[in-house]
Amino acid sequence: MKEQSKLIRSQTTRTSNREHSVPLYLTSSFVFDDAEHGRAMFAEEVEGNLYSRYSNPNTSEFINKVVEMEGAEAGLAFASGMAAVFASIAGLLRSGDHIVAFRSVFGSTHQLFTQLLPRWGITTSYVDASKPEDFEKALRPETKMVFLETPSNPGLELVDLEWLGKLKEKHQFIFNVDNCFATPYLQKPIEFGADIVSHSATKYMDGQGRVLGGVVVGRADLMKELMFFIRHTGPAMSAFNAWLLSKSLETLTLRMDRHCGSALKLAQTLEQHPEIEEIRYPFLPSHPQFELAKRQMKQGGGVVTFTVKGGSERANKFMDGLDMIMLTPNLGDSRSIATHPASTTHSKLSDEERAQIGIFPGTVRISVGLEDASDIIDDIVKSLNESKV
Ligand SMILES: *Cc1c(COP(=O)(O)O)cnc(C)c1O
Repeated sequence: MKEQSKLIRSQTTRTSNREHSVPLYLTSSFVFDDAEHGRAMFAEEVEGNLYSRYSNPNTSEFINKVVEMEGAEAGLAFASGMAAVFASIAGLLRSGDHIVAFRSVFGSTHQLFTQLLPRWGITTSYVDASKPEDFEKALRPETKMVFLETPSNPGLELVDLEWLGKLKEKHQFIFNVDNCFATPYLQKPIEFGADIVSHSATKYMDGQGRVLGGVVVGRADLMKELMFFIRHTGPAMSAFNAWLLSKSLETLTLRMDRHCGSALKLAQTLEQHPEIEEIRYPFLPSHPQFELAKRQMKQGGGVVTFTVKGGSERANKFMDGLDMIMLTPNLGDSRSIATHPASTTHSKLSDEERAQIGIFPGTVRISVGLEDASDIIDDIVKSLNESKV
């Protein structure tokens, strides 16, 4: 079966009620056949559902679809994207270990690297994606993991996955990719050698701005180690969210085609607009990594980032002048969203740190939704014209 058919047809649970749609399993625990079965389950001698902090038919259903799409061996579901990112690091590393991360990471991931992990003796060095020659210099004997996002949020900087996959053979690190912006439909990091892929399922996987969720997939031995971590720390995804996300995945590729098509049209229009200082979209030939984007991504994704002339005052005026598009920090929703990263998602960074990852006072991130592309473009162009200071 082709990918799209598998997304719809793969099903791991079915009850004797002959339901056509997967039912919701709201139960915290599962019954043992007898006392011996209970002992064997806890001893991990037999497989099966035991307690919903460990596994549940709905979370298994969701995980299987992501494992299948990413070409992974196994996976785990989490209550949020940050729980997934945190576990994929903290569940595998220990005090004294070192991480090399590409600098453009999600705001909370940056706080994790700079404020939280150091409390437990795990340190991180940043490398700029635009200076890959610095990468090998940043590696240390105690470097256990390399972490990156591609394309990054919101600067849409790319990291060459094939290049890193080759370096992994020489240097032996765990290659960990946050694939949230691309989704497994547009980019499959495991094909390039990634060991772990994490996602905020809150974004394109749900795609309708309803629930939080996270997922980590990858090498079976690493997932086994992570399973121990989540069994005893409890960041599990709720069955309801898993049930909903499994359904959402059935339309992931259709939605991504539409998000990407409209985003490209918006980017092409804005590139010609005199009030735009800089625009970034991976599938615009003017993007400095256009060739790389075409090599490792199927399409450019659903986010367009641009910087308006006139700094933060102009950006605020532009955002307030939008009629249809709303201001909120989420992305990957069916509804288009405008976000001002410097004052919201990346407000905890210094001006200098922001500039290093392409966030300026006038930078706006648009998550292009599923409305008619002409309505999205008209709203943005109208507000750009009217907000001229
Ligand atoms: C949103 C996001 C996260 C965090 O996900 P939550 O579900 O909000 O916890 C992590 N990484 C990236 C790239 C994101 O966009």
